[in-house]
Amino acid sequence: MVNDIKVARYTLEGQSGLWETVIGIEVHAQVTSESKLFSGASASYGGSPMSHVSLVDAAMPGMLPVINQQCVRQAIKTGLGLKAQINKFSVFDRKNYFYPDLPQGYQISQFKYPIVGEGEVRVTLKDNSDIRVGIERLHLEQDAGKSFHDIDPESSYIDLNRSGVALMEIVTKPDLRSADEAKAFVTKLRTILRYLETCDGNMEEGSLRADINVSVRKPGDELGTRCEIKNVNSIKFIGMAIDYESRRQIDEIENGNKIIQETRLFDVSNGKTRSMRSKEEAHDYRYFPDPDLLPLNLDDNFISEIAKEIPELPDEKKDRFLRNYGLSSYDADILVSDKKYAEYFEKVTVGRDPKISVNWITGELFSALKRLSIDITNSPVSCDNLGELIDLISEGTLSGRLAKDVFEIMLETQKNPRIIVKEENLSQITDEGSIEKIVDKILGENPDKVSEVREKPKMIGWFVGQVMKESQGKANPSSVNEIIQKKLGL
Ligand code: ADP
Ligand code: MG
Repeated sequence: MVNDIKVARYTLEGQSGLWETVIGIEVHAQVTSESKLFSGASASYGGSPMSHVSLVDAAMPGMLPVINQQCVRQAIKTGLGLKAQINKFSVFDRKNYFYPDLPQGYQISQFKYPIVGEGEVRVTLKDNSDIRVGIERLHLEQDAGKSFHDIDPESSYIDLNRSGVALMEIVTKPDLRSADEAKAFVTKLRTILRYLETCDGNMEEGSLRADINVSVRKPGDELGTRCEIKNVNSIKFIGMAIDYESRRQIDEIENGNKIIQETRLFDVSNGKTRSMRSKEEAHDYRYFPDPDLLPLNLDDNFISEIAKEIPELPDEKKDRFLRNYGLSSYDADILVSDKKYAEYFEKVTVGRDPKISVNWITGELFSALKRLSIDITNSPVSCDNLGELIDLISEGTLSGRLAKDVFEIMLETQKNPRIIVKEENLSQITDEGSIEKIVDKILGENPDKVSEVREKPKMIGWFVGQVMKESQGKANPSSVNEIIQKKLGL
């Protein structure tokens, strides 16, 4: 069980024996929505600086926030997708601090009464075991703008395009135990958000960022003092930050020092974390309910309408793939990791062997798409065409080797494989007569090898190779083998 503090799931070695890392994550996920949380300005990424800023976002005096219903729906949808409690009553609070890129002088967030309560995410680890990560809460809040300190030597520049964009802060329980688990969790969460279409999950654009809380303890002890690593924006960096930070804390404690609760930054340039501010310097945010916004009171109908929009999620899809297609858990995990993969697979495999379909998709197709940096939605090999290629193999028209050649041509030309086979005259030679002719030719040209193979039957491989070469790879290898054996009386 995840929360059983007596059993360590993963340990690190220190001078004083074994240690356990404990991790809890706060994810900031940008809500997919046309406009901002409390204004009608565009919430889309990019745009020239200050072009997505309404008077509300610029915090002009007397402006009033108006809640964006779409953002509320998205938060509820996400809560349902995380199997979480939806709170019918929630409140927007002001979190007061000075930030140059949030001109209101406070962030509107939810504190005491978040819109979503406890939930759970199932995460499959590399060794195929599952862990369950508790979700503490999910609340809605505004994002801040962006400051630029590197454009001008004298001044800083501010872009408020992001200011007021809706974020969902998703907070986990301290249920994670290693960098690998944390990486797998964030990956899974991102997949769920993408299935739900409530956040695009693009970490490069800052749509998904994570604050990582790390502490260490001796297995079985109570929780240790944590440090919070702010704003990590790639899965790889999350892993690096945890590995560095847990090692640092172990060294500190083993050297007789105490861990001070503090906020730290992950430095990409050296892979280390460094102190930003300690808890003592932490702000008192003076949270209080925003007097410009009424509490949210949701009715059951509103929630159940949203529940109807929840698609089949990765866990259920995986279970169905295991059940209906008999796939391995490994293959199913790859396919459901992106719903576009799963869709592609389900189209290819209609009337075909699921295992062969997966192998072509996760093998040839994925490596080609990666090589060409193409998304599967723009694949030059359509699912129908890949399906027909698989048919050509099972009908015996193409050998595995020829099929790979045809696949390469499909990539280049986007053509149907049957057309390619015809145009390039690529079909496999299966009729015995034609193969016999080639075998006779090769045997005739190599009398010395013929006497050798009679002594050493293993040498037959050499003949098969020659015949295959002569046929430009088109002969069916098992027929070739049979015919040679027959001719030589082996
Ligand atoms: P705060 O609001 O001060 O950030 P929370 O109690 O909300 O504090 O916790 C924030 C995050 O820190 C949560 O994800 C939680 O799981 C995690 N966390 C709490 N205690 C620990 C600990 N001792 N070690 C690691 N993570 C922790
Ligand atoms: Mg925090």
